[in-house]
This record gives sequence, structure tokens and C-alpha cells, in this order.
Amino acid sequence: MNIYYERYGCTLNQAETEYFVQEFIDSGYNLVESPENADIIIIGTCVVIKHTENHMVSRIRDLYSKNKKIIVAGCLPAARPELLKDFHGVELFTPRQFNLDNFKNPCLENYVSIPIAQGCNGHCTYCISKIARGALKSYKEEKIIEKVKDAVKKGVKEIRLTALDTAAYGRDINTDLPSLLNKIEEIEGDFKVRVGMMEPSNTIEIIDDLIQSFKSKKIFKFLHIPFQSGDDKILKAMGRDYSAFDFLKIVEKIKSNFDHYTLSTDVIVGFPGEDEDTFNSTVNVALRSEPDIMNITRYSPREGTLAFYLKPVKSAIAKEWSKRLTELHREISEKRNSILVGKFMDILVTEKGKLGYLGRTEGYRPVIIENGEINNYYYVKIESYTPYYLIGKRM
Ligand code: SF4
Repeated sequence: MNIYYERYGCTLNQAETEYFVQEFIDSGYNLVESPENADIIIIGTCVVIKHTENHMVSRIRDLYSKNKKIIVAGCLPAARPELLKDFHGVELFTPRQFNLDNFKNPCLENYVSIPIAQGCNGHCTYCISKIARGALKSYKEEKIIEKVKDAVKKGVKEIRLTALDTAAYGRDINTDLPSLLNKIEEIEGDFKVRVGMMEPSNTIEIIDDLIQSFKSKKIFKFLHIPFQSGDDKILKAMGRDYSAFDFLKIVEKIKSNFDHYTLSTDVIVGFPGEDEDTFNSTVNVALRSEPDIMNITRYSPREGTLAFYLKPVKSAIAKEWSKRLTELHREISEKRNSILVGKFMDILVTEKGKLGYLGRTEGYRPVIIENGEINNYYYVKIESYTPYYLIGKRM
């Protein structure tokens, strides 16, 4: 029997899909690369914006026409089950049915992703994820450590901790993210941890301990902290409990403790109430924080959320803002990458791509080298760059 899968959305959703697929592989299914050759098809869905939701439904329709057994996992069956009522016989698996305790580590990629919590403790007025995933439920430290040890024993070098908000980890079970990281750092072996998205409101409460934990050689200096808007009035309307200044304070602490890091962020443009002034505040925060990665999304109203009922910004205006921010970000990342030309660095090769081998520096910056081997370290000289990656030469 053969299994085929597709997965969409955030790293948490992708990780849960992998765990689910691994169950089938462990019970004897072969992984195949085309739905035509499969007996079972799993699709890990995302509904973060309307466009993605539409794409999910049309993809399910496509797969459904192949007359195979289909399992729809991820956020669609939890947040928008009504969209699936015409697909008779399709099995649903919602995020709330996922529990780390019941699954074995997947081995579908060179890295292993470990979900550390389900749900979140936020109350963003625009976000559908909470409807799909519910309140924060952290997995036990012992369980996560057991998973890390298992991955290290199998020779995995990159371990990704993931959750809707990793900075909220432990609040419901009397611990926190820095404590978890300190315990992981004590595990013997050659591995590096990439910590997933951290919301600013929870990050600011743990920032000093977090920075200490990140000083470990075993933790990539990769910080994904979405600021969403640089304007406090818009942040309030979004239901986000921090100010633009709080975000900049976090970035300041990162900058003053690490010379070399990746700052990734997410921004929503065109949230109801946004105008040229509030957009310019976002531009200013981007200029001051200089993110290496900036995921820019045009606001998309989602049924079931509070913001759905607010008056939207004209789409042509939001499109123009998105374009301006994209251009600005290109300049920022070119500047950030150009500074590294001529530097010598150690990289861990994690992937083979079309352009060559992709390695990660300790600051998780992507470096392409011509040849190498996955899971090996190389000492490289940075010779050139694009806005998206560095180009290195093995020494
Ligand atoms: S939690 Fe949000 S981003 Fe992740 S899959 Fe669900 S809708 Fe998409």
C-alpha cells in the first residue's frame, strides 16, 4: 500500500502532518511522489488567509476526483468544516486530535520538527488559528527531551522546535522556554536547535533568560518574532498586547548580545483602520529593526474573527503598501548580507537544492556552496550575496 502527502501552512502544521504520515510508514505504507500511485492521500491544510483556504478546497477537489482514500488534516477541518461537507467519505484529522505523546519522530526530512505546544494564549482579532487550535497546551518537558534525544541518536543535526508561539511555552505547566532550552542544551551530541515563532508579548517577559539560553552553541541564533504593525493603534485593534517600542526593545537586546543572527518577522499591511501614517510607522520599525526575513501579508478578513466585521482598506492601496515594503525589505537584506562578504564562517550543510548545497551559519544565515555533504560542517569564505542568501567558498 502506498501513501502520498502534501502539507501547507506554518511549521507547526507541517510538522504535525509529518508525524501523521510517519505513522502510516511505520505500519508498512510506502511513500510515493504522486497522488496517482497512492492508496491513501494526506493533505495537511492551512486557512490563514482566504486565498490559501480557496486553494486548499480546490486542491482537495482535485485529489478527491482521483477516487482514493483521502485524509484532510490541519486547520481546514477544524476552522471551516462546512467547506468539506460535499466530499463524502473523506476522513478528517483536526489539530486538536494531535498529541505529541502518541506519535513517533518522523524521518521524512534531514531535520526533525518537534511541536512543543498546541494552541496559543493570544487573542488576535483577525486570526483564525486560535479557532482551529484552541488555547495553549504545552507538551511535557520530559516528552520533548525524549524526542530530541531520539533524533540526536538517529544522527539528526538540525532540530526545529515549533508551536504557534514558542515564547508562550510552559505558561500552563509552570515552566518556560528558556528552561526547556537549557535542558535541551545539556543533551550530549552534535546537533543544533532552531526555535520557532515567538510572539513579542510573551518574548519580552522572558527576553533576558532567552538571550542567555541562545548563547549556547547548540542553539541557532534564529529569532522569528512577528511585529505585524509598527503602529500602536493598529496593534491594539489587532488585539496584540505589546507596543512597537516593546518589539524594538527586544531587537535591541538581540543586537547588543549577538553580532551574527537572523531576525525573521511577519507584517500585515492594510489592516482595517490602516492609513498612510500607520503604514509609515511600520516602515520605520522595519528600518530600525532591519529584519533579514520579512513575510508580508495583505490583510485578509476571516469569518468567525472579530476583525471580519471591520471596514476593509481598499485592496489597491494595500497592494501598493505591500509593494513598497517588499522593496524596502530587499534593500535591508541586501545591506545585511553585503556586510558579511569576505568573512570566514563555519556552516552546517542541511539541504541540497537547485543552486548547490545549502548550509547554515551559527546565526542561521543561508550560505550556498557548490559541493558538500548534508550533515557536514565546512569552513567557508563568504564571497558574494543576493537579497536571499550568501554565496560561500569552501576553504
Ligand atoms: S495555524 Fe494558522 S498558519 Fe498554521 S496551518 Fe493553521 S491557519 Fe495555517
